[in-house]
Amino acid sequence: MSGIYIHIPFCIRKCKYCDFVSYADNPLVADYLYSLLKEIRLSKENIDKIDKNEYDTVFIGGGTPSVMPLKGIESIMNELSKFFNISNNAEISIECNPGTVDLSKLQEYKLSGINRLSLGLQSADDEILKRIGRIHTYAQYVESLDNARKAGFDNINTDIMHGLPRQTKTIYLDTIDKVCKLGVEHISSYSLILEENTLLYNEVMAGKEMLPDEDETYDMQDDGIKKLAEYGYIRYEVSNYSKHGRECRHNINYWENGEYLGLGLNSHSAMKLDEWTRWNNTSNLKNYIECLNKGKLPRENIEKISKNDEMFETVMVGFRMVNGIDISAFKKRYGISFEEVYESEIKELIGKHWLEINDERAKLTQKGMDMMNSALMCFIK
Ligand code: SF4
Repeated sequence: MSGIYIHIPFCIRKCKYCDFVSYADNPLVADYLYSLLKEIRLSKENIDKIDKNEYDTVFIGGGTPSVMPLKGIESIMNELSKFFNISNNAEISIECNPGTVDLSKLQEYKLSGINRLSLGLQSADDEILKRIGRIHTYAQYVESLDNARKAGFDNINTDIMHGLPRQTKTIYLDTIDKVCKLGVEHISSYSLILEENTLLYNEVMAGKEMLPDEDETYDMQDDGIKKLAEYGYIRYEVSNYSKHGRECRHNINYWENGEYLGLGLNSHSAMKLDEWTRWNNTSNLKNYIECLNKGKLPRENIEKISKNDEMFETVMVGFRMVNGIDISAFKKRYGISFEEVYESEIKELIGKHWLEINDERAKLTQKGMDMMNSALMCFIK
C-alpha cells in the first residue's frame, strides 16, 4: 500500500497545547497554496518511482485544512488526480475543526472526491475546550457532524483527548458516551503530551493550570478502552478505535511501514527507491515558498535506511497495532523470517508473556502493550 499526505499549516488560532508546525492568522495562505500545487507537479517529475505507484490513500492534514478557501482544497484535489495515480477506491480524508466548515463547504469536499472526515473535538466539555484554547464548542462539533452526514459522509473520525487540564474520569467518559451515541465510525483518543514552549506548558509550570497525574490519566484511558468496547468500537491501534471495517487505511499504511509521499511544509516521506529512503520537507514556511518559487523541491535530510534499521522500523510501528506484524509479509519484504532475525528477542519477550506468535502474526499481549517502550528496546540491534 502507499499513501500521500498533504500538510496545510494554518489554523484560526493556536491551541494552548499545540507544538505542530501550524500558523495562526498567517498572510501567506495564497502563496503557500501556489507553492504546494507546484510541489505536486515537481514531485511527479522528479522521482520515477513516484510515477509508478498507485496511491491507495490521501490524507489532507494540518494545521486545520478546513481554514483553506474552498477553491484551494479543490485545486489540490484536481492537481493530485492530474499528476498522480490515485486508485479508484482510495480513502481520501481531510481534517476539519468544528466551527470552520458549513454544509456547502462539506458538500464541495464530497464533490471533489474526499470521502472521509476527521473532526477534532478533543472534549465534549466546553470549560475544558476553553482551557486548552480550542476555537469551538461541543454544540458546534454536533452541528458540523450533522452537516457532514447531510453532505453524504459515511466515514467520520472524531479526535478526543485524555489527560487534559482539570479533566476527571467522569468528564472523559462522558465525552466518549456522547461521541459514541452520535455514531461516528472511528474515534482516536490521544493522551495529552505536555510539550515545552507551549502556552499550556507555561501555565502548568507557573501553577496556573493543573493536569491529572499519571495514574489518573492511565485510569481514564483504561476505563475509556472498556467503554469504547461496550459501544462496539474495536481497538486496533494504541490510540485508535473503529467500527468493524472502518479502520483508517492511511494510518495503517504507516504502521505497516509502507510507502508514503509527504507534500507540504514539514511533511515526511518514506519510499523504496534504489533503497528504502526517508526525507522531509523544510519546516520553515518562507524557505518552503522560496524554494518552490525557484523550481526546487524543498527536501531535507534525505537518508538511505539500512535493511536492519528498516526491519526495526517495521517492528516499532507494527507493534502499535493490536494485531501486530504480518510475519509472512515480513519474510516477503526482507527475504528472511521475523523469527530468524529476532530469535533471542522473541524468546525473551515470550518468556515475559509480552509477545504472542502464531502462523500469521506476531503481536504484543496486553502486558506487552503496557510495556511497549521496554518491549521495543529489545529489538534494537
Ligand atoms: S487546531 Fe490542531 S494544529 Fe491547529 S493549533 Fe489546534 S491542535 Fe494545533
